Amino acid sequence: MPGRILVVDDIPANVRLLEAKLSSEYFDVIAASSGPQALEVARAEAPDIILLDVMMPGMDGFEACKRLKTDPQTAHIPVVMVTALSDPSDRVRGLEAGADDFLTKPVRDIALFARVRSLIRLKMVMDEWRLRQQTSSELGIVPPTSTPEHESYHHARILICEASPIETANLQEVLSRDGHDLQVAATVQDSQRLAASGDVDLVIVDLALGDDEALRLCSHLRAQERTRQTPILLIAEEDQTAKLAKSLDLGVNDYLVQPVDRNELLARVHTQIRRRRFQDRLRASYMQSLSMALTDQLTGLYNRNYLMTHLSGLMQRTLASGKALALAMIDVDNFKQVNDTYGHAAGDEVLAELARRMTHHTRNFDTVARFGGEEFVVVMPDITAELAMLVAERLRLRVAESPMTLKSGQALPITVSIGVAVSRHQADRSEDLLSRADRALYAAKREGRNRVVLANDTAAGAVTLAAEIAGLKERVEKLGARAEPI
Ligand code: GH3
Ligand code: MG
Ligand code: MG
Repeated sequence: MPGRILVVDDIPANVRLLEAKLSSEYFDVIAASSGPQALEVARAEAPDIILLDVMMPGMDGFEACKRLKTDPQTAHIPVVMVTALSDPSDRVRGLEAGADDFLTKPVRDIALFARVRSLIRLKMVMDEWRLRQQTSSELGIVPPTSTPEHESYHHARILICEASPIETANLQEVLSRDGHDLQVAATVQDSQRLAASGDVDLVIVDLALGDDEALRLCSHLRAQERTRQTPILLIAEEDQTAKLAKSLDLGVNDYLVQPVDRNELLARVHTQIRRRRFQDRLRASYMQSLSMALTDQLTGLYNRNYLMTHLSGLMQRTLASGKALALAMIDVDNFKQVNDTYGHAAGDEVLAELARRMTHHTRNFDTVARFGGEEFVVVMPDITAELAMLVAERLRLRVAESPMTLKSGQALPITVSIGVAVSRHQADRSEDLLSRADRALYAAKREGRNRVVLANDTAAGAVTLAAEIAGLKERVEKLGARAEPI
């Protein structure tokens, strides 16, 4: 996993010390010796994490951190403040400047590597989402707020896993005054149950729950689908460094050391909640863009892009297993007149209703797609030409037999023409199948509309298909459809 770390310190000996420690664990280290230089290097080199000294002449660490976190180009890079100060008020000041974490000088190896690894993991997750977000905005979806700092941390649902009644009361007092919804669990079992049962924004776990029990709980939360992404904040004693390092490796997001400082608790809780909400928002926007990329917004059907990708794969699989696949191309008759007479909005309603009927009257494993303006495609794998014609004829009938009722109460009689083509040979390409269906559709239009025409497969296999068509003609004509070679 090692990544690139920017070490910022005005004292060269400090830089060398951290550089030596980090290089021994195979991290790539770059350095800067002042706040302004740090901003410059961060922009140019895009490191995975920044270790930032607090006390520097000129621009100090707090100021540098604030600037890094407000620059969209560097805001996503985790910043760890390295400080000789251990006063909680300094930590709070740093967290308010947007720092993701703190290390106290002299830096202990376990704490350093655990922090660095857990933050690099966080950055990898965030990078993935940022990439997807870029794709979403290219698809025209309004991107979410640009950084976690812009998210709200109010009214979160927090689960406190704490055995001591005194500690529980302290946490409850601080967090409920901050306006959150709290649940309390005093045992591991209760914690697991409550975490899995509802949408929890943050879990606070006290290591005093029993060292191993607490770690087991954290690893359980990470292993479960429902709680995998839920942030965990650990509370530990000063001398539990090894346990802390292990817990961060297990995926715990952050920790506080006893005695818990009220402001530091709030600052860390806020950071976790904001990150969680930011990730949720990115995920939702990504899901929306996925669905926009694959489906048609008016009808909810798959779009042409999806159909083309899906069709070639489906054809390969179906034909390779010796089965046939049919494609029906459906076009609304005289649809321009509907628009011209009743308006475009009425036309849209008709298309949505047609989509509903088509989905309803095809098999579950058939694919219905909107191919273009008022053209639809139904793909039917593992089917005979005869059955495909019957399905198409049924679709035609279901449209023609009852008018489309608009929201305004108006009822419009609508008909469709359908061209059906069948593929049964592995060499057949999806483009050929589509163009055969399209020619059959054209024949249906030419023959007077409101009818189904089966494409005559003039390519290989024509003999069997022709025989099938001959038998079919009779049966289909009884239904009012036409089977006709074109
Ligand atoms: P034909 O029977 O030969 O298919 O005649 P037609 O009028 O249906 O065919 P034509 O291709 O001339 O017209 C299709 C019309 O469909 C023109 C276009 O404005 C309309 N159309 C395409 N997409 C949409 C849409 O999303 N909503 C609405 N309301 N109309 C659409
Ligand atoms: Mg049309
Ligand atoms: Mg058309």
